[in-house]
This record gives sequence, C-alpha cells and structure tokens, in this order.
Amino acid sequence: MATVPGTAVARCVHCRVDISVPERYAHGDHIKCGGCGTKHKVVRGDRLRLVLADVGPVRDALAQNQQLTTRLEADLAQARGSFGIGANGFGVALIYALYQVGVRGEPIGKGLLWEAVGVAIVSGLLLELANWAFLAKRHRLTVLSRELEEARAEASRLRAILREAGRV
Ligand SMILES: [Zn+2]
Repeated sequence: MATVPGTAVARCVHCRVDISVPERYAHGDHIKCGGCGTKHKVVRGDRLRLVLADVGPVRDALAQNQQLTTRLEADLAQARGSFGIGANGFGVALIYALYQVGVRGEPIGKGLLWEAVGVAIVSGLLLELANWAFLAKRHRLTVLSRELEEARAEASRLRAILREAGRV
C-alpha cells in the first residue's frame, strides 16, 4: 500500500487494520476504515496518525466499563468480607472450652479431655468444610480480581483513545 506515491498507512483505532491515507487528505479530514467502517480524523503532525472522529461509542463503552468496574469492586469486597466465616467455627470451639474451664470452673480431667477430643473431631470436620469453602472463595476472588484487572486495562485503553481524539 505504501508503494502509491504520497499515500501513507496508519492503523485503524478500532480493529488495528492498515488504512491507506492518500496525500489529498488534509489534517482534520475524515477517513473511514475499510475493515470495520469506523470513522477517523486525519492528524498530520510529525507523522501521520488517525484518531476517532466520533468518540460517542467509546464514551458509551467507557461508561459501561465503569459500571462493570463498580460492580466487580462490590463483588470482590463482598467475597473478601465473607472470608473467615469457616475459621470462626474453630475460634468458637476454643472459646467454649475456655469458658468451661475458666468461668464454670470445670476440672481439667477425663471428662473435659473427651469433650476436647469431641471438639477436635467436630472442628476438624468444620475446618475441612471451611477449607473447601475457602478454596471455592479463593477461586472466586481470583476470577473477580482478574476480571477487575481486565476492566481497568480496558478503561485505560478507552481513555487513551479519547485523549488522542481530543488532540485534533
Ligand atoms: Zn477498523
């Protein structure tokens, strides 16, 4: 494409396809992408660039992206907040044992030992359950974190396009 004299090539902002820009296109002129139909403005600075002619769809996409980011942040905060509920069961068992010895003055004998064994088995089962829930939550946190990261990356990409377009 660059073999035609005076024709330069620039990338489509949307689909990244090469667009050949003939010399007769002046700074600020509109040119359409042959691939996706996105309208661009020609920017003739130290080198030829193409920026979006109509930033409306990008602004809309950015607004949607911000809604998504807000939702993901809330989901992530909620998922983080529900952490540790399983581990609390163990704490409750410990507090119960301490209460039996300390407040009720129960002697540390065979009775309490068997009770402690029972508590250990029950809390062991609880911890297994908690562990399973922990892994499920951990997976959810990972997925949400990754989605949030992607949404933020997309937001900065969209903002960059808007900034570029604002220069014409
Ligand atoms: Zn395109």
